[in-house]
Amino acid sequence: MPKPRTQTQTYYLLSLGCSKNTVDSESMAQLLGGSGYRGVEEPARAGVLIVNTCGFIGPAKQESVNALRELADAKKPGQLLIAAGCLSQRYGIELTKQVPGLDGIIGTRRWMDIVDLVQRLRARPYPEPIYHLPESAAVGADEHGVSRTAVQGASAYLKIADGCRRPCAFCAIPLIKGTAVSRPIKAVVSEAKRLEARGLKELVLIAQDTTDYGHDLGLKEGLSELLERLTAEAPGIPWIRIMYAFPGYVTDRQIETMARHPQVLHYLDMPLQHGHPATLRRMRRPANIDWVHNTIGKMRSAMPDLAIRSTFIVGYPGETEEEFQTLLDFTAELKFDRLGAFTFSFEPGTPSEPLGDPVSPEVKDERLARLMEQQQRLSLAKNQLQIGKTLNVLVEGKGDGLSLGRSYRDAPEIDGMVIVEGDLPVGEIVPVRITGAMAYDLTGAVDAAPARVVSRPITLAA
Ligand code: SF4
Repeated sequence: MPKPRTQTQTYYLLSLGCSKNTVDSESMAQLLGGSGYRGVEEPARAGVLIVNTCGFIGPAKQESVNALRELADAKKPGQLLIAAGCLSQRYGIELTKQVPGLDGIIGTRRWMDIVDLVQRLRARPYPEPIYHLPESAAVGADEHGVSRTAVQGASAYLKIADGCRRPCAFCAIPLIKGTAVSRPIKAVVSEAKRLEARGLKELVLIAQDTTDYGHDLGLKEGLSELLERLTAEAPGIPWIRIMYAFPGYVTDRQIETMARHPQVLHYLDMPLQHGHPATLRRMRRPANIDWVHNTIGKMRSAMPDLAIRSTFIVGYPGETEEEFQTLLDFTAELKFDRLGAFTFSFEPGTPSEPLGDPVSPEVKDERLARLMEQQQRLSLAKNQLQIGKTLNVLVEGKGDGLSLGRSYRDAPEIDGMVIVEGDLPVGEIVPVRITGAMAYDLTGAVDAAPARVVSRPITLAA
């Protein structure tokens, strides 16, 4: 009979994947902290090792498996290794074949049961892995007494919903997370007020699809209603940023709300995935290209300084050179301020599985390079238009007489930076006169005069 393990109230939590996973990691850390566990930086010093995995696409999955294997190889007697997150939800018990030495597996839909799982693992008589993957579980809208945010300096990701009901053929998220579940407006607003009281400067609203916020709460314009409440009840937060908008669901009211409220940044992240209607139809994505042009046109006329970010997939099954060229022309014409791109990742179990993966890796990589080369030129040209302007910059770091920050045009972790001369107060927003432009970043110096936000009243189309 093996000797029962010692209780060591420390944990090491590695968070991989997207900002939504980061929020789940923060919530798990709060639950563990609330049960007397202390977080440590070095895995060797922890009693419990947790990896909050990503299960979205091939490279991200491999990164998660590698991280788990590394911890499993170095695991000491008495240490517990738990795989949490999307990879666990997607592959469940199968994961033990890829990562021998796993003690526990908990799905992304049950992050709130992490303490219970650790205690069950501690109490188990035999070293059999424990799987906590209740099939029926939907992602929880309820809070479990913890915040659904991830604070990074003066900025915080605020999760407003989880799961997704869109039919995108290449995407495993609906498989992993289930359908979209919105958090009650009251819960989101009270969380924002708590962050306001802490002096946070930026709220980054996240979900798989923020434009679908509130549909399950019976709200037709849920995101606009939420923005109205946030700006009315948390006026002290200077910046509110919207990520992950779904094409076809950015409404006139949302545009009007963004343009009317100075707190709501003139920035929108709207993954479009492609620019050719035939490719979009095969992706089971909105294929109305005119809608994209019209809506971006409307947004730019309401907010002339609008910064748009989008994301694209190259090498999707059946993508011809002609379809790819259309994507190049589409992005060249719309001139996105920020653009991310990925090569298609074949994902078993998704609706695109029957299409296989016919585009060769060489062609995928070559198309990715061509798209990003073009975007580098476009981004530089966009950045050069900022020279001479004064932008408000949220200072996030400093050293060697320089400070680093982000303007309204830069979402955390994925967009550019502004490099400013001088030692500026970290966590503060300062007006910066832009003096130089690089492909993705800007340079500047503190400006005495505050930055001007440019908005025009929107005339709603008949
Ligand atoms: S909107 Fe589409 S791509 Fe995004 S999470 Fe939902 S199914 Fe996936």
